[in-house]
Amino acid sequence: MAKPRLATCSLAGCFGCHMSLLDIDERLLELVDLVDLDRSPLDDKKAFDVPVDLGLVEGGCASEHNVQVLREFREHCRWLVSVGACAINGGVPALRNTIGLRACLEEAYVRGPTVEAGASIPDDEDLPLLLDRVYPCHEIVKIDGFLPGCPPSADAIWTALTALLTGQAPRLPYRLLKYD
Ligand code: SF4
Repeated sequence: MAKPRLATCSLAGCFGCHMSLLDIDERLLELVDLVDLDRSPLDDKKAFDVPVDLGLVEGGCASEHNVQVLREFREHCRWLVSVGACAINGGVPALRNTIGLRACLEEAYVRGPTVEAGASIPDDEDLPLLLDRVYPCHEIVKIDGFLPGCPPSADAIWTALTALLTGQAPRLPYRLLKYD
């Protein structure tokens, strides 16, 4: 029987949630037996070819490119789970929502103390456009589950992952639930 397929992505995240996934350590060998890895930074596969059973999303949406990737994940993943504070509520990157995009860009590229005189905000057409604010994933597409933490612990990710991949409802014990 074909193994379930797993995809992961990092949008406006720091890759810390992926590092926490790798923190399952020797259970990575069990994971390899349990799933076929599809589109993911872990295998550097950049596009979907077939439908995938489970998608894990790290990071919220800060740019048009983030939105495009998230929509591709929604389209191809039967179950889509927001992993970590950034995907769930925007996380630390969403602090910029209180300041405004223009003010952030000017502080970074025009007025900051380490910026050289005459510098300007980058506007190369190859750069993804930033959104007016940072959005949690569920404000862009339907999300089926939420795994909190910054990052969620390896044990929490493993518990949720193995439950979902074996067709059970994830039941995280209280000790594995955290938001920091
Ligand atoms: S939730 Fe925390 S660890 Fe995960 S991507 Fe965001 S900042 Fe990084």
